Amino acid sequence: MERRALLKNLGGLLLIPATPFKTDAAPQKPVLRVAHLTDVHLKDKWDAPARFAKCLNHLQQQPGVDMILSGGDTVFDMNKENRDVIDAQWKLWHSLIQSYCSLPLHYILGNHDIWWNEDDKGQAIYGKKYALDQLKLTMPYYSFIKNGWKFILLDSVHLDIDNTWYIGKLGDEQFAWLQNELQTTPQDMPVCVMSHIPILTATLMVEDNIVNKWEMLGGDMHTDTAKIINLFYQHPNVKLCLSGHIHLRDKVVYNNVTYICNGAVSGAWWEGNKRETAPGYGLIDFYADGTFTEKYVNY
Ligand SMILES: [Zn+2]
Repeated sequence: MERRALLKNLGGLLLIPATPFKTDAAPQKPVLRVAHLTDVHLKDKWDAPARFAKCLNHLQQQPGVDMILSGGDTVFDMNKENRDVIDAQWKLWHSLIQSYCSLPLHYILGNHDIWWNEDDKGQAIYGKKYALDQLKLTMPYYSFIKNGWKFILLDSVHLDIDNTWYIGKLGDEQFAWLQNELQTTPQDMPVCVMSHIPILTATLMVEDNIVNKWEMLGGDMHTDTAKIINLFYQHPNVKLCLSGHIHLRDKVVYNNVTYICNGAVSGAWWEGNKRETAPGYGLIDFYADGTFTEKYVNY
């Protein structure tokens, strides 16, 4: 209906519309608000349960949070622990989530969520199976779509070629899955990726290094970074990559993809700040046009 006809039909009353006709001047509203929690390392020690409850309350007081992305190292440590210690950590996790969290959670595993006790190798829940069962996940990597954005959740942690310790990588099978996942995502659908170990980070340079002697360990950053970045280069709808693991907060932009290492809920494993990064979580607003705004929140 023409505006003139509309006014006529309203009986000559001049109504000022609530939304201006020039809608391009109106501020854009986010389609989704997400809290990114990583490296909680929950254990019944250092007052960690009460502090984690405080963190959950804090983020749920932020207006309009739709969901939580949980970036791994959920429990303090499973690696070489015995079954009783592991059971207690997960029981504590579930009871805190039940009591203090009403938001949907989407999980990935960190290196500390994997059971690598040699004495227990024969058991069916050895390796990643125990934590996957706890989190009701059938696969350690998966994707979903929420409010026009695709979220791809990766499994960073794999045994090194000598099978003695882990490194950051996807492996051939998961890389092929990621390739297919991006190929089958509409080009105009923005993508956010979450991994435990950073795909790309500058935090590893923030060490007390001797000049010319930076050391980069395969367990600290993905070892297949170049391959993943090249894949993202072919899919410009990949906008944001979230990670944790280092417990330091940084933001690197490369080829129009923003890589954020989002500190740690536990800070320095519940003993204060790690270097200059205080305990905190990421808060991200996603927009329909593929942009986002974000901040790191100290709770
Ligand atoms: Zn980690």
